[in-house]
Amino acid sequence: MFIGHFAAGFAAKKFEMAPSLGTYFMAAQFIDLLWPFFLIAGLESVEIDPGNTAVTPLNFIHYPWTHSLTGTLFWAMLFGGIYYLVKKNIKASVWLGALVLSHWVLDFISHRPDLPLSPGSDIKVGLGLWNSFTASIALESGLFILGVFLYYKATKALNKRGVITLLGLIVFMVFVYFMNLFGPPPPSAEPLPYIGLSMWLLVIWGYWIDRHRRAESAV
Ligand SMILES: [Zn+2]
Repeated sequence: MFIGHFAAGFAAKKFEMAPSLGTYFMAAQFIDLLWPFFLIAGLESVEIDPGNTAVTPLNFIHYPWTHSLTGTLFWAMLFGGIYYLVKKNIKASVWLGALVLSHWVLDFISHRPDLPLSPGSDIKVGLGLWNSFTASIALESGLFILGVFLYYKATKALNKRGVITLLGLIVFMVFVYFMNLFGPPPPSAEPLPYIGLSMWLLVIWGYWIDRHRRAESAV
């Protein structure tokens, strides 16, 4: 999933408005943001395998540190814990931890059984929504529209930048999403960690948007 994770980050603002949209993006994508570092360090591995599922040409051979269930629980507690130490906001910390965990749940729905339960475990899970191209696009697009809608309703632009930065990000994400779906697979796995690192720019983009929009309502 790609835009589905960002959808969760957008939606969170509706329910707890203290964290910046950038912090929410970081939480929702946290294990994917860590993944390139583990690839570069040689602790996790991925290969190009066109047709691995209908949606992705990537074969996630080994990624227990970032993408196992217990690994994700650890990152969720770490993320929420650090936010609490810095901001002393328990509700926001819990939301952020839950958002880190939501990444695993969405991956569990989409991936074929390649998500380990814990490092060292041979048990791998995944419901394999990605085997259906149409169902994957329907669910992920639906989540994205809902997430953006909730965020849009919960915030108000303080100036023109608050509109342009948000619209720009939405267009950019949809563009990248469809390029991934319909474009050719990457020629080799070598550039993948660096493509992965570029995801941090979307977190920065989230902080940028947040500075120009005010949260209006939280439930
Ligand atoms: Zn992931």
